[in-house]
Amino acid sequence: MTDDSIASEKWRPDTQEGGTAELPGAPGDVQEAVEALLDEVGVDTQPEPYLEASGLRGQIAIVTGGSSGIGRAVVLDLARAGADVAFCFLDDGAQSRLDAQSVARELRHLEVRCFFQACDVRESSEVKAFVRGAHETLGNIHILVNNAGIGRDRALWHMADHEWEAVVRTNLDGAFFFTRAVAPYLRAQEYGKIVNVASVHGVRSEFGLCNYAASKAGLIGLTKSAAVELGPRNINVNAVAPGYIRTTRLTDGVSPEVLDHAREESVLGRLGDPQDVSSTIMFLVSEAARHITGAVIPVDGGYLL
Ligand code: NDP
Repeated sequence: MTDDSIASEKWRPDTQEGGTAELPGAPGDVQEAVEALLDEVGVDTQPEPYLEASGLRGQIAIVTGGSSGIGRAVVLDLARAGADVAFCFLDDGAQSRLDAQSVARELRHLEVRCFFQACDVRESSEVKAFVRGAHETLGNIHILVNNAGIGRDRALWHMADHEWEAVVRTNLDGAFFFTRAVAPYLRAQEYGKIVNVASVHGVRSEFGLCNYAASKAGLIGLTKSAAVELGPRNINVNAVAPGYIRTTRLTDGVSPEVLDHAREESVLGRLGDPQDVSSTIMFLVSEAARHITGAVIPVDGGYLL
């Protein structure tokens, strides 16, 4: 990519270097003994100073499918942490537009900058245009959350071509298109965090999910490959694998019997909330997770155990 607008300067989050900690309340001789021990251990074996990011102020995040459910929770948490946020949605009806406008309003109340636009993640050209628009409006991109996803469940011997394609193209191609489009920005600044929203069904399938399970297993493969290729430029790529999460997609589209079964299968005996997934994503985009990459973190109440 030869885009002159991509800054090639290294970027680091606002940091506070941790020095040698004073032991609060420790008597002088204990403090001295600890310092003597530290001297003995030697500087070489000490960890690198921990660079603690003070929130996400100054960072710019893109969230796909940010107008509802898990994506909406992530958009709002990123903004509460101070990040400026760009989010896309499909725009498949009036409700979809109302949802997006309502999230944008909430972002304005949180006093962060915002860019939102309909963008079909299945279309590579739309994805490129969205990322260019987000960059021109907000600036360099630091965080990408590939969240947009759908399901079209059916026994595989009845599954139509269009049902297979819609799911695989949204859940897998979409994440690839976005990752490829933001990679030049993240690589140039040698900093970035990517989180893919996979699913427990990318690890263990159930009846009627061949398209969904294949797409999410593929997304886990993409996560690991991207982690390998982008890691040398200080870019972390991870996935979360939610179990059944109470979003309208789930409560409107899944039968009560399936939800009861999901509760029984979860060790904690309950469904999750969008907030449960979002807080894990917030950890993964923070400096506290700087040494985690290529990981798939279940957020499933123990469903996979
Ligand atoms: P929702 O249906 O609530 O939200 C989906 C979001 O993705 C909406 O903003 C929707 O926009 C957008 N979207 C859908 N298709 C496209 C597309 N082609 N291009 C751009 N945006 C699109 O879903 P959830 O919050 O439940 O799910 C979010 C993610 O979490 C998905 O990847 C899903 O597979 C995953 N997941 C969900 C679980 C659950 O139990 N809810 C469990 C495990 C994983 P619009 O409203 O305009 O259509």
